[in-house]
Amino acid sequence: MKLYTTCSSCYKNIKLKQKATTKFEFQRNFGEEIELNCNHCGTSNTKHVNRIFAKSEWFWVLISFGISVLLSILLFFIIGGIGIVFISVPVLITFGQQKSINAFNRSMIPRRQK
Ligand SMILES: [Zn+2]
Repeated sequence: MKLYTTCSSCYKNIKLKQKATTKFEFQRNFGEEIELNCNHCGTSNTKHVNRIFAKSEWFWVLISFGISVLLSILLFFIIGGIGIVFISVPVLITFGQQKSINAFNRSMIPRRQK
């Protein structure tokens, strides 16, 4: 999964280099607010952790899915029916990722009182 935020000037999505599986982890590692430059309009944005959202990387999901389908078919011919079991691996990974994406987007960091 990839982390994004929206540029406050041009409203395009900015991809974050930082990685975290939860907002709490993000806050712990990178602080409550991060500063980043929009790659579309160059505006410098200061974003609160709660403004960050997660999306899956469909490109890689599809690629890994395609590869394991091919592998399963191959294994089906080599070792028989049990080879089909391998097809469930990417499905489970995709579902697992989707679950953590939903958890990430639903959770909110309580804002500090100023
Ligand atoms: Zn922008």
